[in-house]
Amino acid sequence: MPEAERLDRFIARANAAYYATHDPFADFTTAPEICQGFGECLGLWAAVAWDQAGRPPHPILAEAGPGRGTLMADARRAIRAVAPEFAAAVALHLIETSPRLRAAQASALGDGAAWHDTLATLPPGPIFLLANEFLDALPIRQFVRRGAGWTERHVRDGAWVERAAADPPATCAWPAAEGTVVECSEAATGFVAALARRIAAQGGAALLIDYAAETPNPAGSLQALRAGAPADPLEAPGEADLTAHVDFPALADAAREGGAAVFGPVPQGMLLARLGLPARIDRLAAGLPAPRAAVLRAGARRLLAPERMGVLFKALALCHPASPTPPGFAP
Ligand code: SAH
Repeated sequence: MPEAERLDRFIARANAAYYATHDPFADFTTAPEICQGFGECLGLWAAVAWDQAGRPPHPILAEAGPGRGTLMADARRAIRAVAPEFAAAVALHLIETSPRLRAAQASALGDGAAWHDTLATLPPGPIFLLANEFLDALPIRQFVRRGAGWTERHVRDGAWVERAAADPPATCAWPAAEGTVVECSEAATGFVAALARRIAAQGGAALLIDYAAETPNPAGSLQALRAGAPADPLEAPGEADLTAHVDFPALADAAREGGAAVFGPVPQGMLLARLGLPARIDRLAAGLPAPRAAVLRAGARRLLAPERMGVLFKALALCHPASPTPPGFAP
């Protein structure tokens, strides 16, 4: 009988294999792939954050989990057009573990980017970091309420195995019905805490966009997409994309403990509206033939509309404690 593997280790292994061997965009789409205005708005957010920070020299423009490189290509184009001084000053650094997606990013972005497996190897300096649907791809642990205590989920031969929980997270102290699943992601909180410490010590800002329901699902949020359709997350590791909802309150706590000022989360639709996406789309659409303008508007609506991606997705900002409120986060 093989050893049971803790869920977070199973997910880390499965997703590394998946992202190394598959085109994830055959299975799902993301905001930057839906509308060019998404990356443009985020790029200009970074430029304004740099300006608000007093235009420190040698800024780093970074992205975690850049996918096909579309967000950063759109961001850089907007930055070059609107904030040429930021464009001239920045060095581009990408955090990406998949060799396959690194190649896609290189062809979208051309020369001039440096790649890293983790945040830890980026050079020092003020960092302006963007991340969309990165944290949801990081491993989670799951704890299950059993009797008066908690078990932790492991995986063996495609099936769940529960073991007595050695170190359940603090949220397990709350009252919970039998069978309730509580999740935590040490990978996500660890990333955000390290980012916050870096921003507090060396300056910069970060904009993290991901999805989370208003209230946690008592059955947990781990999901698998295989060939574009929902699948059993345990069945074929490396063949499906495994994701989980992001725990924004836990991330905000980790960021504060790391010493950053935290803003949000605000709904994605509200952030993009405040950053001027509707006006940008009107400008772009005015120069396009009617069918292409309609496609552009439909894409923007999908990102903005509360019943589409406008509310399920949320944005959290981390800033240096001396910086003012970043664009889009003023109440
Ligand atoms: N931000 C992109 C892609 C989202 S998919 C978009 O919005 O389209 C998740 C991305 O995170 C992929 O690029 C994937 O390879 C990367 N990724 C997943 N786990 C990672 C890890 N542990 N370290 C670095 N990158 C990771």
